[in-house]
Amino acid sequence: MKRFGALALVVVLAAALAAPSELAAQQRRLVTIASGWVVGVYYPLAGAMSRIAYKAKDLNVRATVESSGASVANAQLIGTGDADFALLQNDIAYYAASGRTLGAFKDKPVKNMGGIFTIYPELVHIVAASSANVKSVRDLKGKRVVLGPQGSGTEQNALQILEAYGIKEADLAKAERIDAAAAGDQLKDGRVDAAFFTTGLGSAVIVDAFISGRVTLVSVGGAEGDAIRKAYPFYTLEKIPANTYKGQESVVTTPAVMAMMVARAELPEDLVYRFTKAIFDDLKQFHAAHAAAKHLTLETALNGMPIKLHPGAEKFYKEKGVLK
Ligand code: GLU
Repeated sequence: MKRFGALALVVVLAAALAAPSELAAQQRRLVTIASGWVVGVYYPLAGAMSRIAYKAKDLNVRATVESSGASVANAQLIGTGDADFALLQNDIAYYAASGRTLGAFKDKPVKNMGGIFTIYPELVHIVAASSANVKSVRDLKGKRVVLGPQGSGTEQNALQILEAYGIKEADLAKAERIDAAAAGDQLKDGRVDAAFFTTGLGSAVIVDAFISGRVTLVSVGGAEGDAIRKAYPFYTLEKIPANTYKGQESVVTTPAVMAMMVARAELPEDLVYRFTKAIFDDLKQFHAAHAAAKHLTLETALNGMPIKLHPGAEKFYKEKGVLK
């Protein structure tokens, strides 16, 4: 008891002695941004948003960035109120909000997720160890494959793509769910034959894997590409241009979705309005976070938006005339 009393006194004294600016900082509302892989694109983007939010004069928040498996986990964190903002894929956001398609959300839709903006295409990078001699997704049968991190959108995309080729998880020698950095390392030293990563072009984990000179990319196109778009309409087919990565000699076609930002519906309209405004007022800093971030513009911010907007974001777009 005594020690508690002393501790409380120290805290009170410290508060009394704190400079006014420090006091203001203490009053900042703490919010969390659920991001993704430290070696991916969400994480640096969330970091940039946190810095922009901190600097914004009329937005008194301190945003902490959490790394995670990503999309599926992030939707769940919004649902339980454990995250205030999150980055995730637009396909997963739709499945989460509607309770459709994915087992993770059946009978437990995430009702409290409000859209803020969509940002850039995330392409399914199917990276194979050169030694594994994988020329087509079909060749993954009997191989050791990383489907994606636990709780990722990637894992779902991997299962959907394998399905289009008639491959079930049981047809693989090993199906792993491990974090993206570990997947990159295991590809480089041939401990796994292939790994899926749904992420922006130039994602650090892919850049790094190609620097090893020991990996290749696998295409998804033709009849299977069409089938997958029909079965899961969020996909578009995009190209990874030759030489996007070191030693990547030919262009690769692959399904893609959009990265997007959401907020918990319970967050005050004014806070989300100011947050959204702060990002668009400082697009330069946002764009500097990663090449993929440059896709964010006011004109394209609602392309592929699969869920209803957070009222704060809606107010911002109306004010800008982007929405009627
Ligand atoms: N889209 C990825 C996923 O949900 C995360 C990508 C990233 O962190 O850059 O699986």
